[in-house]
Amino acid sequence: MTGKKSAIIIGAGIGGITTAVYLAKNGYEVDIFEKNSSPGGRCGQMIRDGHRFDLGATMLMMPGIYHEIFDSLGIPLFENNDITPLEDLYKIYFDDNEVITFTPDQDKMKIQLEKIEPGSFARSQKYVFDGYEIFQIGMNKLIGRNFDNVFQFANFRNIGMLIKLKTYISNYSYVKKFFRNQHLRMAYTFQNIYVGQSPFSSPALFSMVPAAELTEGSFFPKGGMYSIVEKLLSAAISHGVRLHYNNPVETIKVNGKKAEGVLLEDGTEIKADIIVANADLPYVYRKLLPDKRKSERLDKLKYSCSAICFHWGLDKLYLQVGHHSVFLSEGFREGLDKIFKDKTVSDHPSFYMHAPSRTDPTAAPANQDTLSFIVGAGHVDKMKKQDWDILKKNTRLAIIQRLKQLGLEDIEEHIKFEICCTPESWENTCNISRGSVFGSLAHNLLQMGYFRPHNQHSRYKNLYFTGGSTHPGNGIPNVLLSAKLTSERILNN
Ligand SMILES: Cc1cc2nc3c(=O)[nH]c(=O)nc-3n(C[C@H](O)[C@H](O)[C@H](O)COP(=O)(O)OP(=O)(O)OC[C@H]3O[C@@H](n4cnc5c(N)ncnc54)[C@H](O)[C@@H]3O)c2cc1C
Repeated sequence: MTGKKSAIIIGAGIGGITTAVYLAKNGYEVDIFEKNSSPGGRCGQMIRDGHRFDLGATMLMMPGIYHEIFDSLGIPLFENNDITPLEDLYKIYFDDNEVITFTPDQDKMKIQLEKIEPGSFARSQKYVFDGYEIFQIGMNKLIGRNFDNVFQFANFRNIGMLIKLKTYISNYSYVKKFFRNQHLRMAYTFQNIYVGQSPFSSPALFSMVPAAELTEGSFFPKGGMYSIVEKLLSAAISHGVRLHYNNPVETIKVNGKKAEGVLLEDGTEIKADIIVANADLPYVYRKLLPDKRKSERLDKLKYSCSAICFHWGLDKLYLQVGHHSVFLSEGFREGLDKIFKDKTVSDHPSFYMHAPSRTDPTAAPANQDTLSFIVGAGHVDKMKKQDWDILKKNTRLAIIQRLKQLGLEDIEEHIKFEICCTPESWENTCNISRGSVFGSLAHNLLQMGYFRPHNQHSRYKNLYFTGGSTHPGNGIPNVLLSAKLTSERILNN
């Protein structure tokens, strides 16, 4: 017995490890139990035959938030030139071979945009300026703070804020005020998919995403996004945090109004003063806690979309494509409806491609390539069952055909091996409800801020939550903030 307070953290995702560092730095004895054999969760990594894949996150955006959190934890992040700013954020390819390169370089943007729609450059600047203002207001008032009661969120002053945050209009209706050209409308709204939303139904608040990218830039760490997990992990270990892999938690043991500890799948029971669940929140209520009424309520909420991901190790290098590419298909709205309404994948999907060896050659053996693809897909829905094997085959074919159109004609012959994650496999590997990897709970207004499931349990006051499915939401910057906010709540109690 050390006399220190003890904490058990369920899950070694970014949210769990970051919370562990905050607590250990503040005197807690911390144990993390992770179901898988390695850390990272949706920011995990796989290495095979010299090919290194980031299995989930691939873009370091909103660097200011990384600075804030890493500085507060005393972890050096940007100091050793380990993190490279990307000159181009991504190239956007359209079906008719039009290409727009998104870059913070204003001259380059002007030339491209004016060619597509005269006058659109000035309007894009306004879109980005206003979107960045939304980002800053959102950070101060909505995203970067804890709410203790509904009045802190829904009061007269905040009604003005919600109007400023463009919560009353869909992102797609909003972008139409700026651009007549369909490709420009697509280019400035597809980023909604980062938070698992359709721009046709999510609020224009999310115009802050491209605005933040274009204003603050996008970065890539040496060693891939997993190096963020490694940095957090080494800080956690240096503060004495103990990690237990291959150790799924089966139940959170509760007694009266207290969470007493956890029961592991191997039958071991461990007690602690506090418990922090980093595992997906609806999964925790459904599987690890006794109260089924709350779980049924969570079941009725809206869930984000899922993704089919392919990871290819290739014996040829395709330098025609840059680090990040986005392929937007002409049936943009139809494709999104397939995902969000039919819970499936379009036959002709839009998709994202990651080619990390352009920035970090250690991602692939010399003259070979490491490519990953993320294709938005419906989440697992028992009312709309899908044959994911068939969808996987069709999606793979659609990607190959699109790459052939770009001139990568022999790409299929050069795939040495492939790893694929479907919505069902996301659900199984990380316990993400419905495989809704971008949330899991959606980010509609009624599921944000005070209305998002809270980071402290209402009955078991020593049970907390951290990660993408609690406040403020999904994406590594939000998850880092979630860890900070949850830790503040614990430490201030
Ligand atoms: C395809 C994809 C692309 C993305 N791209 C980006 C991007 O470019 N940039 C960005 O910022 N974000 C991106 N994201 C989002 C980002 O990856 C996530 O928001 C973030 O990693 C989630 O972290 P987390 O800690 O909330 O949850 P998780 O990473 O899901 O961690 C939860 C952990 O809990 C463990 N667990 C679950 N149940 C149990 C149990 N019973 N016992 C023990 N352990 C358990 C899981 O195995 C997991 O390790 C992407 C996500 C995906 C899926």
